[in-house]
Parts: sequence; C-alpha cells; structure tokens
Amino acid sequence: MSFTRISPVALLAAILLLAACGRVQEKSLPDLSDQTIQIVATTGMVGDIVSVVGGDRVSVTTLMGAGVDPHTYKASEGDVEKIGNADIIFYSGLHLEAKLAEVFEKMGESIFTVPVAERIPVDQRIVVGTGVGAYDPHVWFDVELWSIAVESVRDTLIEIDPTHADGYNERADAYQIELTALDSYVAEQAASVPEEQRVLITAHDAFNYFARAYNFQVLGIQGVNTATEAGAGDIQNLADFIVEHQIPAIFVESSVSPRTIEALQEAVRSRGFDVRVGGSLFSDAMGDAGTFEGTYIGMVTHNIDTIVGALAA
Ligand SMILES: [Zn+2]
Repeated sequence: MSFTRISPVALLAAILLLAACGRVQEKSLPDLSDQTIQIVATTGMVGDIVSVVGGDRVSVTTLMGAGVDPHTYKASEGDVEKIGNADIIFYSGLHLEAKLAEVFEKMGESIFTVPVAERIPVDQRIVVGTGVGAYDPHVWFDVELWSIAVESVRDTLIEIDPTHADGYNERADAYQIELTALDSYVAEQAASVPEEQRVLITAHDAFNYFARAYNFQVLGIQGVNTATEAGAGDIQNLADFIVEHQIPAIFVESSVSPRTIEALQEAVRSRGFDVRVGGSLFSDAMGDAGTFEGTYIGMVTHNIDTIVGALAA
C-alpha cells in the first residue's frame, strides 16, 4: 500500500484540515503566519467581513464596488490575475456570483476558495428553485444569519494563520456584538411600521431574508436573479396590487437599473394613483468606499431608515 509511505502526522493533519474546513477546495493550505495574507473578496459585504476580522493581518482586494450587480458580473482579465495571485478567495456563494463561480471552477485546485454564505445550514436557507440556484443567495439582509458568514471567515483565517488566532477571535467577537446591536435596531425600526404598511416593493427579489427576519411582505419586479428579464405582465400585476393596497412607496436599488421601477410607477399613475419612489436601497452592493454606507453596517442601517421613513409616513 503506497500510503504507508506518507508520514502519519501529515496524514492526520490533512484529515483534520479537511474535516475542519471542508469547503476549502484544496487539500492543504500554505502556512501564512509570517506574511500579510493577500485576499480577494467578491462583493463588498464579503470584503467588509474579511477586513474587519482580518485586521492588519490581511490585505483585501474587493472585486465588486458600489453599484455593481454580482449576478451578472464577469471577471475582467485583471480580476483573473488578482484571483490567481491571492492566497485565498472569499466569495458569498449560493450562486450569487454566477459567472465568477465558473472562473473559480476553471482555475480549479490552483486557488483556495471559500463561499462564506454556504456555511449557513440548509434548513435556514430560503428555497427558490431546484438544482443550481436552488437557494436565495441574499442572506446578508438577515443580520443574524449573516453572522454565520463572519464565523466562516474567522475559522478560515485561523486555519491558515493559527499563530494569530487570538486576534481573529477578538476582532470577530467584537464585530458580532456590533451585529447583534444592528439586528436589534433593524427589528425595532421594522416593528415601528404598522403591520399592514410593511410591504417592500423593489426592482428584484433581494429582500426575502429581510422579510422573513423582520416580518415584512416583499415583492420584486424581477426574481432573485437579475439575469432574467422582467415581463410586462409582472409590472401590470404589481401596479394593480399597489393601487388595491394603497402602497405609498416603492424602492430603486443601487445596483439595478431604475428602469423597471420607473415603469411600475408609470403603470400605477395610469391607474389614477400616485406611488412615490421612497429612495434607493443597497441590495447587492454597498455604498461608496470610505463612506458609512460603504460598510455592511452602514448599508443595512441606510436601508432600514429609508424603508421606515417612506412607509411609516
Ligand atoms: Zn440580487
């Protein structure tokens, strides 16, 4: 038997590593204790976790900036180079970055990839179909659920850089306290809107987890994936719904063209009712880097304040 030649210690280490971080594609990760870890993150929400938990141990490059739609995002040549040069790649997963996942697959075992949202247990995910894309990927709008992604980042960084485990644990714990406070804030604000007014209408179905966590009804013109076209029938049906329920406001999204929301507003007006655009929400991308809305906590705070301001009025 050839594997008797493998050192038992190395074999055990490999088995433990596989058991501990089963989602990391590669069999063995390099030890990066002595260098700044070069990380590529896909969305801003994922990059924010890595920056916060990684602290000065990591250098993070986020591929998708403000206003970028991850569903349709294609890697540029420069991105492929960044991905190839990174020590590790964190992405959201659950088929959010559909086109990028194909690039990851092509690059195979030469890169280490971690889909942070796929740590979320299957029974806590919202099912929207079958096969690839079976689960709604917009998990970050349930703040408590998104904290599982923080655990995924923390555990992976400790795995590849165990010397600095204390720092990762401390920063992750401090961030989890902030997220718990954020979750309470969103829940309180959401509850301040009378129940019959808790209807959130947006360009695409990015807010199903938000709805489930904070007791809202949500309706999107497009489904969970912006790559599918909105039908004229969808807009007419939603317009009827808005008039019937006297919904005061609908919302555009920073990473989706406002075209369909404007068409919906027109369709409602043609029925003799005026629905306002209640503001712009950050759905699949954060705000500009360097601003409060350019952080996960900032985007979530902006969204709930905008929603409550428009619907509770
Ligand atoms: Zn989306």
